[in-house]
Amino acid sequence: MDIPVLLRFFSPLRRELPCGVVIGTFKDVREHERLLRKAVRHLARHRTREALSLLKRCVTLCPSGEKAFLGRAFHLLGISLRRMGACGPALRAWLAAYRIRKEPRLRRRILSSLNEYGMLKQHTPEQDDWKAFYAIQVRRYLSSKRSAHFSSRAEKDMIDQLIWEYWRDVRRMYDLSSLSTTQKLQVFHDVEIVFPWMVFIPPEATPLEVPTPGFAPTRKCTCGSGLPFMLCCGRTKNSDELWIGSF
Ligand SMILES: [Zn+2]
Repeated sequence: MDIPVLLRFFSPLRRELPCGVVIGTFKDVREHERLLRKAVRHLARHRTREALSLLKRCVTLCPSGEKAFLGRAFHLLGISLRRMGACGPALRAWLAAYRIRKEPRLRRRILSSLNEYGMLKQHTPEQDDWKAFYAIQVRRYLSSKRSAHFSSRAEKDMIDQLIWEYWRDVRRMYDLSSLSTTQKLQVFHDVEIVFPWMVFIPPEATPLEVPTPGFAPTRKCTCGSGLPFMLCCGRTKNSDELWIGSF
């Protein structure tokens, strides 16, 4: 399954993921267990697509009171999504699982997967910086469109190219390795790319979350997850979380 198709498939869950509250319709707890066991078997045999389909049913049908079950289902959903290459949705699923069940093992998995921006770690710090800059600019672009989606691959390619050109300027102008995360985020947010006027409305109406001066990167998140704000609700969204519904 390619990523845009996968993300469309996952999109109905997006509303529930931030708080982990799901309205369920399962009548029998044994039905939860049966589905979950089947999903685990699929995962063990590398039938990720089948596992994903069952886990999606698990998290959408399970009553929010079944916390142990729901936390486990979101955790496995994250593993399936990661295997499919959908890093952003995988992270959302793990965060949802952690908010439901604060297991140290899951906390370690989440924290070891994240970089300083709260995005999934890349191979080098330079790639982490580029992904953060890219995600911030794509978000700005998409939030200016009524549909909030790319309409075609060609449109995405054009915007990608434009963002890449601005990124080369940013690298020329700043020694990013000497800046803190907060400073880099400020720089990335301050770069106002002139997107093609035909599809772009100026960004005044779409304020972005920029850490304020004196912002403590280790401040605990207000959602009660126990994770640092920068790695939880204040994290920079992975770009594949922003493409949901495109094309
Ligand atoms: Zn939070």
